[in-house]
Amino acid sequence: MKNIVILGSTGSIGLSTLEIVAAHPERFRVVALTAGKNLELLAQQVRTFSPRLAVVAATEDVPRLRELCSGCDVTIMGGSEGLIAAATADDAKMVVAAIVGAAGLVPTAAAIRAKKDIALANKEILVTAGHLFMNLVEEYGVSLFPVDSEHSAIFQSIEGHRNEDIRKIILTASGGPFLNTPTRNLSQVTVQDALHHPNWNMGKKITIDSATMMNKGLEVIEARWLFNTPVEKIQVNIHPQSIVHSMVEYVDGCVIAQLGTPDMKAPIAYALAYPERISTGVTPLDLTSFSGLTFLHPDWDKFPCLELAYRAIRSGESMPAVMNAANEIAVAEFLGERIGFMQISETIERTMAAHTAHNLQSIEEVLQADLWGRETAREICREMVH
Ligand code: NAD
Ligand code: MG
Repeated sequence: MKNIVILGSTGSIGLSTLEIVAAHPERFRVVALTAGKNLELLAQQVRTFSPRLAVVAATEDVPRLRELCSGCDVTIMGGSEGLIAAATADDAKMVVAAIVGAAGLVPTAAAIRAKKDIALANKEILVTAGHLFMNLVEEYGVSLFPVDSEHSAIFQSIEGHRNEDIRKIILTASGGPFLNTPTRNLSQVTVQDALHHPNWNMGKKITIDSATMMNKGLEVIEARWLFNTPVEKIQVNIHPQSIVHSMVEYVDGCVIAQLGTPDMKAPIAYALAYPERISTGVTPLDLTSFSGLTFLHPDWDKFPCLELAYRAIRSGESMPAVMNAANEIAVAEFLGERIGFMQISETIERTMAAHTAHNLQSIEEVLQADLWGRETAREICREMVH
């Protein structure tokens, strides 16, 4: 029996993780669940999965959650103290990091320090603090399993091979909802258009990131840290069918890829059960049902966020954390219909241009850079609106 904690259990990844847990009650037990705002859903999960701890992000929501969970044998906590208590629960073996954004940094770092293995969906953690996290993983001797479908594919394609034999990593990208939209029309697209992802059903932030292609930029940085590979060796191919989840090319010219129907339950199950493979309910792949699988180069001019991410990781130090913070603000402003779609990349670019990268020695320093990025980006958005 593996005891697990889910940070962000009410989100898209959290729900898929609970589906896997529910399908394998003999293997997995949930000991703690945490959520941001959806108290009703969290309470429902408490009744179904009987964790001993349930945590809500805002302390003022604790009384309401306690009310919703009345009659359940569960401890209710709130705030960062609660998130850390969940992340470090002494009976847990693995923590699923499924919070969105830099908000996941502190609890996930606490989980590693408490020697928990990590199933990592929350890519912003490695974007903002990749070197610190990889050092922590090594120092505390824990395992870090990727949940992001591309990184799970690379992880599966890399097993048993030597790092020095890799020629390149090829991350695939669906291209998002605007793959075939002319660039001149992008400034007019609505929030609804951007939330309409062709292949994946995900949280709002990552769905907008997919539309701008910042998601792929974040994934390039995530891959750089997870697989200790310089970004020069990481390439992006547009693959609209999302069947090949990513590929690794070796020095002998051989390419190993991982394929499957796009469904996050597959990479989640592999992270939870590694090295075993377990049933997921994912629709089996029938390649004969496709008229073709296509691969294209990304359009760098149309999707400036991708280049901004490469620029940020090449600059290094605090720049990726600032870029990520600016992106989080710009996406929230776009979702609130206060800025336009093309102003997302503009906000990020201007925030990065205003920043001089400096060394980050601790998670606290990452949080300071994150805060600076947020404040600067907010200011830039305010100027753009006026
Ligand atoms: P989501 O918005 O659906 O869920 C986020 C979860 O985090 C929710 O439970 C929410 O309540 C919680 N949360 C949000 N803000 C919080 C805060 N400040 N403090 C504490 N909890 C907070 O997001 P998602 O789509 O499930 O994505 C989660 C992470 O996984 C993201 O980093 C995303 O990039 C990554 N990811 C998602 C997918 C996917 O298919 N959804 C695929 C690959 C990677
Ligand atoms: Mg992905």
